[in-house]
Amino acid sequence: MAENKDYVLPPEEIRRLVELDRQHVWHPFTQHALWNQVEPLIITGGRDEYVFDAQGRRYIDGHSSLWCNIHGHRRAEIDAAIRTQLDRIAHSTQLGLASPPAIELAARLVEIAPQGLNKVFYSDDGSTSVEVACKLAFAYWQHRGERRRELFVALGNAYHGDTIGAVSVGGIDLFHRVYSPLLFKTEFAPSPYCYRCPLGQKPDTCGAANGRPACAEEVGRTLDTHCGKVAAVVVEPLVQAAAGMITAPPGYLARVRQLCDEHETLLIADEVATGFGRTGRMFSCEHENVVPDLLCVSKGLTGGYLPLAATLTTDAIYEAFLGPIDAGRTFYHGHTFTGNPLGCAAALASLEIFQRDRVLEQLPAKIRLLTDGLARLAEHPHVGNIRQRGMMAGVELVRDKSTREAFPYGLQVGAQVCARARDYGVILRPLADTIVIMPPLCISSENLEHLVWTVRTCIDDVMPRLAHGMSDGLE
Ligand SMILES: *Cc1c(COP(=O)(O)O)cnc(C)c1O
Repeated sequence: MAENKDYVLPPEEIRRLVELDRQHVWHPFTQHALWNQVEPLIITGGRDEYVFDAQGRRYIDGHSSLWCNIHGHRRAEIDAAIRTQLDRIAHSTQLGLASPPAIELAARLVEIAPQGLNKVFYSDDGSTSVEVACKLAFAYWQHRGERRRELFVALGNAYHGDTIGAVSVGGIDLFHRVYSPLLFKTEFAPSPYCYRCPLGQKPDTCGAANGRPACAEEVGRTLDTHCGKVAAVVVEPLVQAAAGMITAPPGYLARVRQLCDEHETLLIADEVATGFGRTGRMFSCEHENVVPDLLCVSKGLTGGYLPLAATLTTDAIYEAFLGPIDAGRTFYHGHTFTGNPLGCAAALASLEIFQRDRVLEQLPAKIRLLTDGLARLAEHPHVGNIRQRGMMAGVELVRDKSTREAFPYGLQVGAQVCARARDYGVILRPLADTIVIMPPLCISSENLEHLVWTVRTCIDDVMPRLAHGMSDGLE
């Protein structure tokens, strides 16, 4: 394909870059003792649902460049919107000044968000959008004179980002435990993880059938125990993404909203992963008609183009921060690049594509195709659990299907399956031994089928070698 040539680098240039990468770049979520043993894939281009490497090979972007990309790479409309903005100004600031793209985007976000979220506070990434939500919730109660509301309630297996506030409400031990002395007070309710229910229950008998899953009732119990002391409950609505695409039982989110209302506390919905169509609706809260008090968005906000985030909230919370300057109610928080005009322009263009191309209306057919493809995996002896919500899916691999025994972490089975996928022209990244399927929403049916076929084929390729003890860690 002629297009691939545009992205090819000469072999000596690739060698030079690899050498410099090994010398100087510390990659996120990466064990460098392993990274430095393999040839890194250098991505030099992209178009639609594809990315291209420096050797000119083409791959399906099976994880949307880490859950960000929505309409494909190099979408003409988004590229043009950024260029147009670039011809005006790349950056000014939201501190003491305003800008058209940030104004227009805030109005647009309020239009599409659940009703009642009228105020938009910009930040830079998912983690900061959660920091903002937690600080707003905390200060809200302080300003209201409810000084005892200092506690947060979060969920086991939660992931809300990597800054210290976001880690405080995070529930993934592997990532978060080492920082525990640094964190603020958080109580954890059980993860809504039906396949490995922390309460030892089954979804058909735990109350989920009548809208009261036992795990949601545990949130209620936690709120009872800490009555009058909880500032907010923080959830990833419908899908605990980073924990392995853990899908909550139906009714869970609505019930948690109801419990927050009963206990007069706030609900923070972190839609950083689930927002912008991933679950089949613009926001996953819509599936259960839930309006959170604070809504965090980032990854897909700019169509996956630029770092930008927003925390949406209600008039009630906003008004608690109003007062004379010496009353100390000002929200003293903001980041240098908050509301960056290029990012806002990209986001506006992305939202326009949603509307003009009727993106959400195209999704049901693709979601069904994904469901059908995944169903063919269910019988596989090492596929323990398949979880899908819209265009987000996780395939959890297990050593023993009958006991649900996991593979030893050191085997890196998920990583091996995903490494193999590159041979079939697909980029994937696992969450432990859960293979994530989360392509750009624009993916063609053909490529979506190839993606699922590749996952199945790679599982088949990798498993026999494990069984015969020939594994040597990463490929
Ligand atoms: C990715 C993610 C974050 C963190 O976003 P960053 O942009 O990486 O800081 C927060 N919450 C959820 C649900 C996420 O998936």
